[in-house]
Amino acid sequence: MMSGPGSYIGMETLKSLSEKTISCLVCYHPVTYIGDIDSNRSAADAFVGKRVFRDYGEPIPYHQCTSCKLIFSNHYASWCDEDYSQFIYNSDYHLVDPPFENERPISNAEWLHRCILSGNLAGKPSILDYGAGNGRFLQELQQLGYQDLAGIDKFCSFSRGDLSNQYDIVTCFEVLEHSLDPAQIIKDCINFLKEGGTFFFSTLLLPQYSQSEVLSWWYIAPRNGHICIHTEESLQKLTPPGFQVDCSSFRDIHTIARSDVSLPFSMEQIAHARRPYLPGKKS
Ligand SMILES: [Zn+2]
Repeated sequence: MMSGPGSYIGMETLKSLSEKTISCLVCYHPVTYIGDIDSNRSAADAFVGKRVFRDYGEPIPYHQCTSCKLIFSNHYASWCDEDYSQFIYNSDYHLVDPPFENERPISNAEWLHRCILSGNLAGKPSILDYGAGNGRFLQELQQLGYQDLAGIDKFCSFSRGDLSNQYDIVTCFEVLEHSLDPAQIIKDCINFLKEGGTFFFSTLLLPQYSQSEVLSWWYIAPRNGHICIHTEESLQKLTPPGFQVDCSSFRDIHTIARSDVSLPFSMEQIAHARRPYLPGKKS
């Protein structure tokens, strides 16, 4: 549509136009505009008890799918990796996600180790971590005796070469909520699995909220790059044919594995081994 002198398009018109042109990232159903959040709102605000950064003055619009209830912002659809590095995953990132550098990777490694010990795997499994960040999680696993380890991260260089079909376990912690292409992440991660392997991933699922209050949930945080908030329905729709997703342990840890293969772990063991990774976790 052309706009120019004499054809002013107001904000409300723009919003209704964008609703017509945006469809759900996962299931392609229509979406509803649910409101704006300032680009500087962070997940840490709720735990610190005040804003880590003041409002930047840039409203980030969020939409919700009318079918699978996925919440996302297409504001970042045109961003390249350099934009994310400059404005979100920069030297201040640790301020909006303090457990990112050490606390969470250590607790995740200890959790996975307990989970493996309580399962019926023979020997030490091979593990690939997708979105490996600073590699802290893998270092911790190495100290726990695991040797066949690999990490992949868009913003750091780690293992290279073809890693397809090589791993008993693929992990992907706190990545899905950062991506506007969750289908590709899940496809990639499943591709790294050996036949019968297990994909573990974490992302908090949207709790039950009325639409008017949903944007107050602390996890929807543009400054952290939390731009895609999943539901059990969205994860089910992202799971390819022949595989099944299980979200039954906790709201934040899920598995995908072939539907005709029994997991060498039970969801009770996974839940039992899980520890909260956010201090004073709220939901
Ligand atoms: Zn949807």
